[in-house]
Amino acid sequence: MIIAAHTLGCKLNFAETSDTLRRLAAEGNTIVSWGEKADLYLINTCTVTAVAEKKCRNAIRQAHRKNPDAQIVVMGCFAQSAAEEVAKLPGVTQVLGNEGKRLLSFSSDDRTRTFFKIQDGCDYFCTYCAIPYARGRSRSATIEETLCMARHIAERGAKEVVLTGINTGTFGLQNNERFIDLLKELDAIEGILRYRISSIEPNLLTDDIIDFVALSRAFLPHFHIPLQAGSDHVLKMMHRRYDTALYRQKIEYIKEKMPDACIAADVMAGFNGESEDEFEKVLAFIESIPISYLHVFTYSDRPGTAALQMPEKVPVNIRHEHTARLLELSNRKHQAFINSQIGKIRPVLWESSNHNGLMEGWTDNYIRITRPYDSSRVNTIEEVEIECSNIKTDISSD
Ligand code: SF4
Repeated sequence: MIIAAHTLGCKLNFAETSDTLRRLAAEGNTIVSWGEKADLYLINTCTVTAVAEKKCRNAIRQAHRKNPDAQIVVMGCFAQSAAEEVAKLPGVTQVLGNEGKRLLSFSSDDRTRTFFKIQDGCDYFCTYCAIPYARGRSRSATIEETLCMARHIAERGAKEVVLTGINTGTFGLQNNERFIDLLKELDAIEGILRYRISSIEPNLLTDDIIDFVALSRAFLPHFHIPLQAGSDHVLKMMHRRYDTALYRQKIEYIKEKMPDACIAADVMAGFNGESEDEFEKVLAFIESIPISYLHVFTYSDRPGTAALQMPEKVPVNIRHEHTARLLELSNRKHQAFINSQIGKIRPVLWESSNHNGLMEGWTDNYIRITRPYDSSRVNTIEEVEIECSNIKTDISSD
């Protein structure tokens, strides 16, 4: 069969689609790009916002237009949470949800970097989030099984591994194992020169983990720590498991141990309870901590979540206004972070793509750098001085 796939949403979905396509190719099927005509279209979906769901519906319609006789198989979180609606969309032949997805999978967006799924599901039930319903409870393979897959990834030649999960810091709980013990074992695997932890909840980012990253061989000074709200009132309404004081302590401790670390934070704009007064607190809090940039999301009601029934709704136009102000703050923070790095020498892992005669790579602390293309440098690490002229400030591929 000729198969084309399209993935929406998080890095976990990308790792899972890659895994599925590798298996289908090994069975003798031909994999083509999404734009081509296929016998079977595989769409891995997301339900994190209303916009994400709209994109899923559009992808299904697009596949049906390209080949009305093709089979369309829809998997992932939107398929799981709205199976009946998805089954009625034109051309859909099978709705798989999240069943059959494996506990460990990995993707390669470039042969230098691999996204490695080490954990799935979540037990936290934040009031705005549909993911625990779509992906189920937290689970992971054992440390030994995870290391076995990591060695396989090393053999394929990737130099950088991004550890991904839905709630990565809960790795090992069901097996009575600890996330930090996994990190220590991974650090010892030969061939992998760099690790990033894609995202970790602030209450699970222990000082031990920060100390370990600061002294490790291969874990990089780059953190992604969801904040969601910079107001204790809103954090309570979200049922998040920390307050702004704990968040500040984590960020300041990281910067004390790794002054050049890049720290990204997810922030949600317009959640219930985010009055103008509370929003001013959010802005002031984010201004006051050494965050490098934000991922900003606009709150939208998700079916089945506790937040749907909550008071203190924020009008939609105000949610968008808050989003715009947070984006503006993020741009300023990011520019200040980059300015602080100019003149410093940082290691860059060069990627394989040729962008009009230039090659690109990330520093250890997540600044995008370019240089004239040189194929002999692909998948190697070079110490580079950061200058205004070699920075590419795009963080869209994060
Ligand atoms: S920690 Fe909260 S926001 Fe993150 S997946 Fe779990 S329930 Fe959703």
